[in-house]
Amino acid sequence: MTDVPTGPFRAILVSRDENKNQSVDTTELTLDDLMEGDVVVRVEATTVNYKDGLAITGKSPVVRRWPMVPGIDCAGTVVSSDHAGFAAGDAVILNGWGVGETHLGAYAQYMRVNGDWLIRRPDAFSATDAMAIGTAGYTAMLCVMALERYGLTPQSGPIVVSGANGGVGTVAISLLSGLGYTVIASTGRPQEADFLKELGADEIIERSELSDPGRPLGKERWAGGVDVAGSHTLANMLAMTSYGGAVAACGLAQGMDLPTTVAPFILRGVSLLGVDSVMAAKPTREEAWRRLAQELDIKKLHSLSQTIGFADIVPTAHAIIEGDIRGRVVVDMG
Ligand code: NDP
Repeated sequence: MTDVPTGPFRAILVSRDENKNQSVDTTELTLDDLMEGDVVVRVEATTVNYKDGLAITGKSPVVRRWPMVPGIDCAGTVVSSDHAGFAAGDAVILNGWGVGETHLGAYAQYMRVNGDWLIRRPDAFSATDAMAIGTAGYTAMLCVMALERYGLTPQSGPIVVSGANGGVGTVAISLLSGLGYTVIASTGRPQEADFLKELGADEIIERSELSDPGRPLGKERWAGGVDVAGSHTLANMLAMTSYGGAVAACGLAQGMDLPTTVAPFILRGVSLLGVDSVMAAKPTREEAWRRLAQELDIKKLHSLSQTIGFADIVPTAHAIIEGDIRGRVVVDMG
């Protein structure tokens, strides 16, 4: 269905009162309520990312325009377009660019956005598949691309992945293992070891080995890392990276701080590679999605994702902040 809606449609709205107390409501919007943009998209699937959890719980200041429809990514179909690159009926993916933060987001049945933000959905993926990947999976690919650009190969040595059971972690393990890397998965949920091994992890280590305060330099255990946690986890990852290695850092699940020293950098030539998905340039995004379409094992993707309905978004947002979600959550918008 590619009709422009004439009546109201469902959305989740986070609002703030004059005392900055946040509330979350299910509401109805019309196209007139949406923000500026040259393309209207019917949202078919969206996801619950960690950042969506932060926005809905209010745990971190993700939302910077009030009220806000959260939801940082979607897969959908264009219903109307004044943008030269897109026409009604096109299957598209959207993530980042401040959607769900400064621009009304994906927890609504329709969005109006800047067509420059849209990516064509690869034929290999249904809307649900694309959101099983979502921002987390696409960020995992950006991390892999950063390590490759730096020059790491499977011959360089093992790669450690923190937050192994989370969205970025599960997809990173799957991608790295598919590329031939030896993968060390760090998790606070060792009971999920069998699942992580099926995804491609060769070794499982306890989260506390990285998340507790450590020494400036440790035994050289891996050639590189994908870190979703920040804080002591990233500091320890760097301290245990072998000479000339690199860690791609994308997250703050443990904390925003980075209690490290310069020792890994100046004594072992280790590099810290920053990864941002929100403002990544379009060619980088297209490359990441093209590679995901080619390299991500679709069976593994299905094994690491679960589908929920619109009504489950808010409780799931709380659960992801509590660290209770394994892998990826897709929201079927009906
Ligand atoms: P998830 O909640 O799905 O995964 C995070 C995982 O981190 C958890 O599953 C858990 O894994 C682990 N974890 C939780 N708490 C802690 C802790 N205190 N210390 C160490 N590890 C912890 O989130 P996502 O995978 O979607 O996102 C991960 C991070 O990456 C978030 O901080 C998110 O904001 C960030 N991010 C950044 C992007 C960017 O553009 N830079 C884009 C996408 C995500 P386990 O139980 O296995 O230990």
